[in-house]
Amino acid sequence: MSSTIHFDVDSEGIATLTIDVVGMPVNVITPGFQEDLSLALDRVAHDGAVTGVVLTSARRDFMAGADIKDLVTAYDRGVLASSAAQLSSALSRIYRRLETCGKPVVAAINGVALGGGLELALSCHYRVVADTPKALLGLPEVKVGLLPGAGGTQRLPRLIGISQALPLLLEGRQLQPAEALRLGVVHEVVPPHELLDRARAWLRSKPDASAPWDRKGFKVPGGVGMQSPSLAQTFMVGSAMIARETWHNYPAPAAILSSVYEGCQLPLDRALALESKYFGLLLSGPVARNMMRTLFVNKGAAESLVRRPAGVTRSRVSKLGVLGAGMMGAGVAQVSAEAGMDVVLLDITEEAAERGKEQVRKLLGKRVERGRMTAAESDRLLARILPTSTYAALEGCDLVVEAVFESRDVKAQVTRQAEAVIPKQAVFASNTSTLPITGLSEASCRPDQFIGIHFFSPVDRMPLVEVIVGQLSSPETLARALDYVGQLRKTPIVVNDSRGFFTSRVFGTFVAEGQAMLAEGVAPALIENAARSAGFPVGPLAVSDEVTVELQWSVTRQAEADLGAQFVRPVNYAVMQRMVEQGRLGRRQGGGFYDYPPGAPKRLWAGLAALWPLAAQQPSVDELVARFLCVQALESVRCLEEGVISHPADADLGAVLGVGYPAWTGGVLSYIDTMGLSQFVARCGDLEAKHGHRFRPTDSLRARALSGRPFHDPAFAASAG
Ligand code: NAD
Repeated sequence: MSSTIHFDVDSEGIATLTIDVVGMPVNVITPGFQEDLSLALDRVAHDGAVTGVVLTSARRDFMAGADIKDLVTAYDRGVLASSAAQLSSALSRIYRRLETCGKPVVAAINGVALGGGLELALSCHYRVVADTPKALLGLPEVKVGLLPGAGGTQRLPRLIGISQALPLLLEGRQLQPAEALRLGVVHEVVPPHELLDRARAWLRSKPDASAPWDRKGFKVPGGVGMQSPSLAQTFMVGSAMIARETWHNYPAPAAILSSVYEGCQLPLDRALALESKYFGLLLSGPVARNMMRTLFVNKGAAESLVRRPAGVTRSRVSKLGVLGAGMMGAGVAQVSAEAGMDVVLLDITEEAAERGKEQVRKLLGKRVERGRMTAAESDRLLARILPTSTYAALEGCDLVVEAVFESRDVKAQVTRQAEAVIPKQAVFASNTSTLPITGLSEASCRPDQFIGIHFFSPVDRMPLVEVIVGQLSSPETLARALDYVGQLRKTPIVVNDSRGFFTSRVFGTFVAEGQAMLAEGVAPALIENAARSAGFPVGPLAVSDEVTVELQWSVTRQAEADLGAQFVRPVNYAVMQRMVEQGRLGRRQGGGFYDYPPGAPKRLWAGLAALWPLAAQQPSVDELVARFLCVQALESVRCLEEGVISHPADADLGAVLGVGYPAWTGGVLSYIDTMGLSQFVARCGDLEAKHGHRFRPTDSLRARALSGRPFHDPAFAASAG
């Protein structure tokens, strides 16, 4: 009957509606699907021969949710909150018609049911799920700045109670079938091949064709509003926690809390209208646009390897070599073994290599303890990692990741030793964080097969990988490096060679700005809290201690030695120097900007006050926040102009996923676009007048502001391309 839903009625009158949104990689809610579902419901309601409905999917997924590429343009199109609310209420009304069509409806969930997909299932009277790890259920809208706008904030709490529903709505966590059953989100978990039979069996039991909340006397489990002391506490503590965690930068969690609090005290139809109103407010604002564009559209494009040079045959790494079994090498070995590769983990001695493997064993052991992995799985994975000090073991490696000490000489030596053994066509990648790739490739006898693959620490948790193209790296080498990152299921950005590449350069401006504030006499706690309030996960002084002042200082001195007369002292040069003189080298070395008393939380080092006395006049939080956000955004503009970054989307992704730039901004260049180019240039002009040349807007940025052309062209939602 339609292009997205197959409608079949069997001899018993059971209609099977099979969703198949043709032309989309997964089932998503398109305008066509909404129309087709609406027509199908007319037929279900009016065809006397139909006794019940099974809703299922012809794809691997049940329904993956809304088509974000459609939603992401709303803000740029100037859609008003009221019109955005109508988008949500149109779908919500169709789901409500499904729920009240008078015939029992069962969702046979064969795979992923996320967002609008789970909301569709929640509007059915019964839910059966296939017992497969692929069948993930959840409402992840909060992660892209939205709320579930088709009944999710209303039906889930009515089904499982507010206290159980709120964490799922506020964290967007996805549930495996067993947990969904335990929480009461679904009714049955069955072997995949029995899914449809069990769904039909439920229909044959002549069930009630109404939702619990449409029956007389229904009460939300656990109560609503401030009815019970524990619920009252949930809402009060919940609002406080949201304020503490979001610093009011993210409107979605507060909107979800309000929608649940207010909506659950209303009859469902009014509650759904209220939910749509909150959805409209979020969709018409910039935060949802920024988060959807960077964290969904552009992240997805990067993961589908949008930057991969065309015309190169796809490659796979079966055997990987890792040089250096330290913190990074062990991490790379772990994630590669997890992706199914055989890994040779090489260090100077067998003991050092074994220590690297031990690090992996410990991490996996924790996972086994937490029930996230079986002991057998952990053993299988560890068996793929061969610790060694013998270069001959690298024979047959498709790719080598070098993660030895950050020293040109050591790196050159291991490059030569490895290249003497590995196959002629193997790619050699350095994980250096600071040394330019082109210079390192001088040690290679095939510099066209030499590239940078820069992982972030901790490797198993950080999704970003910065792939650095040296002047001599060939397109085939780039393609093969990206194929490897794709195998790891991480998010690659591609940058051109330069000192500090992209992420370290941008990150460097953040810590330098924080340290510069200290030298100006700004209270250290004010510096740290201002950064946290802007949405940075850690303040610049705390993060300086983590990466160590010692490392920052040695990188600076290396640049000074390399660049000679061209070296420009960073704004925090004197601060680093004094900290090093004082022996305050960082957390690992016993203390830096903070003290780390054993068994107690870290605290700012009291000695800071003597080195940098407090200024009589303290700046406002707003000004400090603007300095943090602008200094990194401006450095990113320079990276774009210098060709270090080729695509605005890569700058945004690198900043948010790699260096903790706040996600609500959408990233460094989205931040400028959202503020407006002219306003950004004006703000930087003010900061330049007060704080110096580093805030000077570049000439081309001024020209761009005059032309009014944003970095992300709103005409193209998927600006990754
Ligand atoms: P690390 O000191 O923990 O480990 C380095 C390892 O290399 C040690 O186990 C050492 O024994 C080994 N090694 C030294 N010389 C060797 C040789 N000739 N042959 C074989 N092995 C040798 O260092 P790390 O933090 O893992 O950093 C490694 C590399 O990754 C550096 O280039 C660093 O800049 C880069 N990096 C580090 C981070 C980070 O956060 N630590 C992040 C990204 C990149």
